[in-house]
Amino acid sequence: KLITFEGPDGAGKTTQIQMTARVLEESGYSVVKTREPGGTRLSEAIRQLLLDPCYNEMSAVTEALLYAAARAQIVGEVLLPALRERKVVLCDRFVDSSLAYQGYGRGLPLEMLRAVNDFALNKLGRFCTILLDLPPEEGLERSAGEMERDRLEQENLSFHRRVRDGYLSMAREFPGRIKVVDASADPRLVQEQIQEYVMAYLTGRDQG
Ligand code: C5P
Ligand code: MG
Repeated sequence: KLITFEGPDGAGKTTQIQMTARVLEESGYSVVKTREPGGTRLSEAIRQLLLDPCYNEMSAVTEALLYAAARAQIVGEVLLPALRERKVVLCDRFVDSSLAYQGYGRGLPLEMLRAVNDFALNKLGRFCTILLDLPPEEGLERSAGEMERDRLEQENLSFHRRVRDGYLSMAREFPGRIKVVDASADPRLVQEQIQEYVMAYLTGRDQG
């Protein structure tokens, strides 16, 4: 089964994924961790293009298509094979990032993004999403890398507010799939919440 982790930079996605993976492995699950954009050789190369500040002339549509292209590759090369082998895949960002950042954030039409991403997802099927929700100001403060901080400042606060509101409105739209966790809480509490949702999903108590 696939579980995706969403939310802003600085929400602790990477740390929480590590912690979740450890717990699942201890309970006997076979776990694959991956990230987006990236996770394959080609998708990591696309990630470099996307995050390279030299490309500040990149249009929003190009950006959206590159994210979708990186996604198509990880779906075919990593996700589908792992799911076929009945592994649990924990993915750092996925299609909701595109809807939140390129859709709600940059203003591209959601239905176009959905169409492009349906094509990229290649009938991947159901998955569950943990949304680590955090006010943009806090994400900015906690953001680990200098590059991320620069990016955040460049993008400005109102962009990140739109992204957050977008995530929350998707969570209201798909309450079965998207579980919201308050990421400003103590990391151990955040992890507890995540484990509850993840175990409910994996044991079928929650349809996702
Ligand atoms: O979470 P991660 O460090 O992989 O994100 C890299 C950067 O790409 C972040 O600054 C995030 O805001 C941005 N991003 C984006 N659109 C996406 C996914 C990520 O602008 N669809
Ligand atoms: Mg990160």
